[in-house]
Amino acid sequence: MAYYVGVDLGATNVRAVVGDDDGVVLGRAHDATPQGPTGIAVTEAVLRVVREACADAGVDPEAVVAAGVGSIGPLDLAAGAVERPANLPDTIDRVPLTGPLSKLLGTERVTLHNDTAAGVVGERFFAERTPDDMVYLTISSGIGAGVAVDGHVLSGWDGNAGEVGHMVVDPEGELTCGCGREGHWEGYCSGTNVPRYARHLHDAEWETDLPIDAPGLSAADVFEAAGDDAFADHVVERLGHWNAVGVANVVHAYAPLVVYVGGAVALNNPDLVLDPIRERLPDLVITNVPEVELTTLGDDAVVKGALASAVIRGTGDRNRRGRS
Ligand SMILES: [Zn+2]
Repeated sequence: MAYYVGVDLGATNVRAVVGDDDGVVLGRAHDATPQGPTGIAVTEAVLRVVREACADAGVDPEAVVAAGVGSIGPLDLAAGAVERPANLPDTIDRVPLTGPLSKLLGTERVTLHNDTAAGVVGERFFAERTPDDMVYLTISSGIGAGVAVDGHVLSGWDGNAGEVGHMVVDPEGELTCGCGREGHWEGYCSGTNVPRYARHLHDAEWETDLPIDAPGLSAADVFEAAGDDAFADHVVERLGHWNAVGVANVVHAYAPLVVYVGGAVALNNPDLVLDPIRERLPDLVITNVPEVELTTLGDDAVVKGALASAVIRGTGDRNRRGRS
C-alpha cells in the first residue's frame, strides 16, 4: 500500500496525519506550536509530529510516497519555508519545511500550500458536493480563503493568494488590523479581534454582563452571552454584517457555487456566524448567491487537505475523490 502524509502548521498547533491513497487516515499526532526561540524549533516540532503520526499508523517514514503541508503564512514557496509568520513571535524568522520533510520521508514530493489553499483542496477531495468553483473560508485567529476557480486551486505568487482577511471592509477604518492597516475584515471578525471589537462598540449606553474590560475577554465569551445579553447580540449582529460584506467581496471576485466555512470561530458558533451571512448575502451579491455551509471536515480541514494534496501529487490524478 502507498502512504501519504498531511501536515497542518498553525500558530497554535502542529498536526499531522498519515493516510492511504483514498485519503483514509491511518494515524495521527499533534503538539503545540513552539513559540520560539527560533524557526528551527518549529521545524523540529513538525518533524517530530510527523514521526509520531507515522508511528501511530505503523508506517516507516521512508515508505511515505508524498506529503502535503498547509501552513500559516507568509510563505516563501521557492525555499519551501514560512517567512516571518505574522501570528508567531518576532524571534521566529524563518521556518524551513519542505527540505527537512523531504529528508525525513525520503521523497522529493513534498508540496507546501498556505493553509486555506490546503483547505479548499481538501473540500474538493472529500466533500460530497465538489464543484469546480468553490471557496474554503476560515474564520479563526485570522481570516483567509482558499479558492478553486474552473477547477484550479489558486496559489498566487509565492503561494499567498487568498489573504481576504486583509480586504478593506470598513473604509472609515475604525479599527486597525494586526497587520497595521485600517478597516480590514480580520481586524473586526477574527477570533483574536472579536473581544477588541466588542470593547470598541461598548459605551455607557450599553448595559452588559460581559467582563468588557477584563484582559481575558474572549470571542467565546461574546458568542456564549448572545441570546441572553443585548450587548452581546449587538456585537454578533455587527460581526454578521462585516462577515457578510467580506463574503460578498469574495463571491464577486470568484463566483463560487459553494462557500465552505471552517476555523474555530465558525466551528464553535456555526449558527451565529453562518446564519447572518446567509441572510444578508442575497441583498449584497449581484451575481449568483452561493450556498454557505460549515466545512464537512471540522478541525481536520487543513490537515486532510494537505493529505489530499499529497495523494493527488503521489497518484498524479487531479480528479480523484477521497473517502472521509
Ligand atoms: Zn490586515
